[in-house]
Amino acid sequence: MRNFLQKITIFMQGRYGTDTLNNCLTVLFFIIWFVKIFIFNRLARLIILAFQIALLALILFRALSRNITKRSAENRKFVPVYNAVKNWCQLTWKKFKDRKEYRYLKCPVCKAQLRVKNQKGVHTVRCPRCGSEFEKKI
Ligand SMILES: [Zn+2]
Repeated sequence: MRNFLQKITIFMQGRYGTDTLNNCLTVLFFIIWFVKIFIFNRLARLIILAFQIALLALILFRALSRNITKRSAENRKFVPVYNAVKNWCQLTWKKFKDRKEYRYLKCPVCKAQLRVKNQKGVHTVRCPRCGSEFEKKI
């Protein structure tokens, strides 16, 4: 077993390995695999299988690539998009969890997300980021 791991380590030297983009592609691969369970049309399954094979080839190509500069550049372009989606999902989940206790407002000046107690009445809200004040009726 140890010998096998050493061989893998030697094989992977100088290769790119994995990154955020590859991890997301792998997750996408398994999501497609799961969705395929519910599709019974033979032609659609074949097309999805071809897409999965192409996706797997891309994942392996990126992981085993020796062109580290190019793979890093691809990942650098992907990470801001990934972070935007991740932040939106986290905020949406937080809004859902806090829906009984808090309200989420958007600052009209700087568009920052503000959290206020969910109490009826007119509230004067002060944005901690830009300092502007506005009134909001809940
Ligand atoms: Zn603001």
